[in-house]
Amino acid sequence: MSTAQPHVPDVSIEDRLYTVKYRDAGESHLGVKDPDICVECTSNECTQVCPAAVWTVEDDSDGVPSIAYENCLECGTCRFGCPHDNVRWEYPKTGGGVVFKQG
Ligand code: SF4
Ligand code: SF4
Repeated sequence: MSTAQPHVPDVSIEDRLYTVKYRDAGESHLGVKDPDICVECTSNECTQVCPAAVWTVEDDSDGVPSIAYENCLECGTCRFGCPHDNVRWEYPKTGGGVVFKQG
């Protein structure tokens, strides 16, 4: 028995995300609860689980992630990806946040 394979468009992730817009509410809806926990964290799962590369920890930083919240897709993965339950996550203020455009 043959199984049909899903059609995958030949479009890069970057090109797909280009159609996603973000209405900036003026302040980050993401953060860390306790920066000291990030300083001690060596695994930095937040930087690995986010599909939009919102979280980054530079080699020369103190270990507290930088958060490019303007790229957030509001998928919520980082809330559960941090093994220390150290992610502060809220929906953006009313009128702000991600806007998905079909096509
Ligand atoms: S948010 Fe969580 S996973 Fe990310 S650096 Fe801080 S403690 Fe580590
Ligand atoms: S909610 Fe999703 S897209 Fe936004 S920062 Fe967390 S993992 Fe990344």
